[in-house]
Formats: sequence, structure tokens, C-alpha cells
Amino acid sequence: MDAHEIRNSYLAFLEQHGHTVIERAPLVPRGDSSTLFNGSGMQSLLPYLLGAEHPNGNRLTDSQPCVRAQDIDDVGDNRHTTFFEMLGNWSLGDYFKEDQIRWFFTFLVDVVGLDASKIFVTCFIGDEENGIPRDTEAADIWQRVFAERGITAEVAVIGSQADGDARGVHPGERIFFYDGGENWWSRGGSLAATPIGDPCGPDSEVFYDFGPEFQDASYGHAHPASDGGQFMEIGNQVFMQYRRLGDGSFEELARRNVDFGGGLERIAAASIGSDDVFRISLLWPIIVALQDLSGRSYDDETTSMRIIADHLRGATFLAVDGVRPSNKEQGYVMRRLLRRAIRLALSLGLTENFFEAVVPVIADLYAADYPEVAASRDEVIAVLVKEENAFRRTLEGGLHALAEYSGSTLTGADVFRLSDTHGFPKELSVEEARRLGIDVDDAWEVGFAEALEEQRARSRGATRLGAAGLPHA
Ligand code: ATP
Ligand code: MG
Ligand code: MG
Ligand code: MG
Repeated sequence: MDAHEIRNSYLAFLEQHGHTVIERAPLVPRGDSSTLFNGSGMQSLLPYLLGAEHPNGNRLTDSQPCVRAQDIDDVGDNRHTTFFEMLGNWSLGDYFKEDQIRWFFTFLVDVVGLDASKIFVTCFIGDEENGIPRDTEAADIWQRVFAERGITAEVAVIGSQADGDARGVHPGERIFFYDGGENWWSRGGSLAATPIGDPCGPDSEVFYDFGPEFQDASYGHAHPASDGGQFMEIGNQVFMQYRRLGDGSFEELARRNVDFGGGLERIAAASIGSDDVFRISLLWPIIVALQDLSGRSYDDETTSMRIIADHLRGATFLAVDGVRPSNKEQGYVMRRLLRRAIRLALSLGLTENFFEAVVPVIADLYAADYPEVAASRDEVIAVLVKEENAFRRTLEGGLHALAEYSGSTLTGADVFRLSDTHGFPKELSVEEARRLGIDVDDAWEVGFAEALEEQRARSRGATRLGAAGLPHA
């Protein structure tokens, strides 16, 4: 199944089980300035998970475009993108663990066609101090659904990620208990950080096993919560069944919720047997366009091409949702994505404008499923191309100035001057200098910081002088 089919069949499958498909939320949260972007399916549904009545009932589903700017440094690996779609379904005081686990497992195995023996899961270990029992309820359900497929699933108690790195997975084990750092959901992030008054609860994560040859040994032994590569997290089921009281203790909730979030791109990758999300139908055509334009191959330029493809896709969707490049907030993140893409494209030899060739490819990937993409296609292309033109001018000025350093050594003070007078980002100066064969001072970062500090001191002095020198009116 490709990503488009997975998205549609997920929504259809949940509809068969009584869910209403709801409209997605915009990437920029409405009436909530606490976060820049919508980073999960549940974010816009929080009021309903906290008890408000949803107009569409108590079984909801959608595919939610998300932006996680906080993942930007992970982009370039095989599984993180700043923009992605999260498949979601919710029970607002309706079904609970049995239905959720069974449905998601059935969807993965019978609808998407994943090999059940490659699915590994995690559950909450329990917390004696706070009187919260181990989630054997979820583990028992998992054991039953695996047994129905003829798979024995042994249980292992791991604890923390570090314990897992040291221990690994023993043969036959498939269900892993982790502590409140891994398998607990609250708005605070962990069990210890659960805010007073908040609903919270154990979660059960689902992983796809690509095989031991995918594990990077520097991470220690492979186990589901390791980032080493063998296991990829494809979904997370949160069971909200507790509330934290004023004295810090936890009470059982009368009205329990399920919040499920699954990575569309990752499920699609598992479905084509690839550990690389960039190989799926929603990303590969962008890579192909970059290969065609640059004449370079993805195998040789994996990281750069991943980052360019991700950043342009993210910026495209941000433009669809009304964000425009600027120097603050969402617009600044968008600008950073675009400039970084342009910068990395230089290393592929793409020194001329290329958005006009790539952005339409991205829009066409979403136009059928997201009518708003089709409707804003031309405008979005124009917005991105305009930003590319503007940055290209900065680039040209900077590169011209940089060329004057050939034959000498570029110091941190020089890098500062280029950024101060030409708006040339410091990483760009250094990377471009190296590409042009100009020597770069090893301690350029120190020199840059000194030059910056000097300028700050100067401007503080100037302000004081200016204030003191004001004529008395
Ligand atoms: P990871 O541990 O891989 O960073 P996560 O635990 O931060 O993922 P969740 O907050 O549980 O992710 O989000 C639910 C699902 O969304 C994940 O199981 C994963 O499939 C998907 N997902 C999360 N972050 C990303 C991302 N940056 N790119 C693609 N998919 C993602
Ligand atoms: Mg993450
Ligand atoms: Mg995770
Ligand atoms: Mg998770």
C-alpha cells in the first residue's frame, strides 16, 4: 500500500468502527499562542480529552498534518521529518484498551499487510510509590492478539532506556515494560512531571522491527526504545485513566479516553519494507526531482537530499496554511527551512533557482487529498519562489564578498563581518569558503563570538553616550 492508500483505508477502517472523520486542524493553532505549530493529532482535541463535549460524538478520527520544529536536528536520519502526518483516533469516554489495541493491530496486519512477527510493543511498568499498577491489562490484550496469529509474545521488564541499551531483547520477547519516562503520557511529558489536576495515563507504543542488521552498535543493544535503528516507532496509544490530585497522588478517572497517534510516513515505510521514510510515495518523487535537477544520486547525497526534501515539503504546507516567510515566529521557522534548503542545495551543485521545479511536485502529491493544496498551488509556488529570489540576492552578495578572501584565511571576525554587512549566515560563510577552497581559521567560532561581543559592547556604549548627550529640552 502507498501512503495515500494507507491514509484512506485507515480512515475507512475507523469509520467502520463507528468513528466520525473530523476536519484536520491548521498547522498554526487557532486561539492558542502557547505553541507555534500543531505537533500532534491530539493537540487541537485537548479540550475534549479534558471533558468538553465534541460536536461529532465520542469516536473521532483524522489524519493531521503536523510540524515539529523541535525535530529539525534529527532531519537527515531515516525517520524524522519536521512535517509529517499523524493518523489519529480518539475515544472520549467510550471504548478502551481492548478495542484500541485490537483495531490498530488488525489495521496494521490485515489492512496494511505488515508481517505480525515484526511488530513489537511496549507497556507501562507501573509505579509503586504512586500506587499505579503495571499495565498488565494492555500486555494481556497484546498477548492474546498475537496468540490469535500463532505468535507467542513473551513479556520482558526493561525499566529505563539505559537498562534496555545494556540488556537488549532476548529470543521470544515481544512485549516490553518501560518506566514513566517512556510509557507514560501527561502534558508534563513524564510521570514525575504530571501536572496537578491533569488527566494522564500509561501508553503502549508499537514498533516495527527491521532486523538486527539495521542496528547501529554505538547505541548499545537493540530494544524498542533505542534510537539505534533496528526498531522504528510507528504508533503510540495513550490510555488516559488517571488524574493527578492536589497532594500529588493519582486517582482513577470515571471517564477514560484513548488517544492514538501513528506516523503515516513510518507506517508507509514499513509497508514497503524500507526503514527509510524518504522512499515512500509522499517523499520519493521529491528526491527524484532533486536527483534529476542536480545529476547527483540519493545514495551519495542522502542527508542533504533528505533535508532539502523535508524542508521544502514543510514550507509548502506552511504556505498552504497561510504562513509567510518573516523574521518572527512561524514565519521565521519557515524562512529557516527555505534558506537551509537553498544552502544545502549549493552542495549538490544547485546554484540556480530550483523551487519552481520542485514545489509543484510537492503540491501535486497532496492536491487530490487536500483540496486546499490544489486551491492555493499557484500562490504557494509564488510565495516560495519570491523568498528564494530574495535569499539568492543575499547569497550572491555574500559569495562575491567571500571570493575576496581566496588566497588568505577566513577568520571569525571575517565571518562576523559577512554576516553583519551581507546578512550572510555564519554556517554558510564557512561551508562556502571550504567549498571554494578558502582556508578557514580553526578557531573561527571563538573569533566570531568575540567580534559579536565587541559590537554589542560598542552599541551599549553608543546608547549610553546617546542618552547622556541628549540636549535638555
Ligand atoms: P520518536 O520517538 O520517533 O521521535 P515520538 O515518540 O516523539 O517519536 P509521538 O509523539 O509518540 O512520537 O508521535 C506519534 C507518532 O508520530 C510516532 O509514533 C511516530 O510514528 C510519528 N512521529 C513522531 N515524530 C515524527 C517525526 N518527526 N517524523 C515522522 N513521524 C513522526
Ligand atoms: Mg520524538
Ligand atoms: Mg518515541
Ligand atoms: Mg511516542
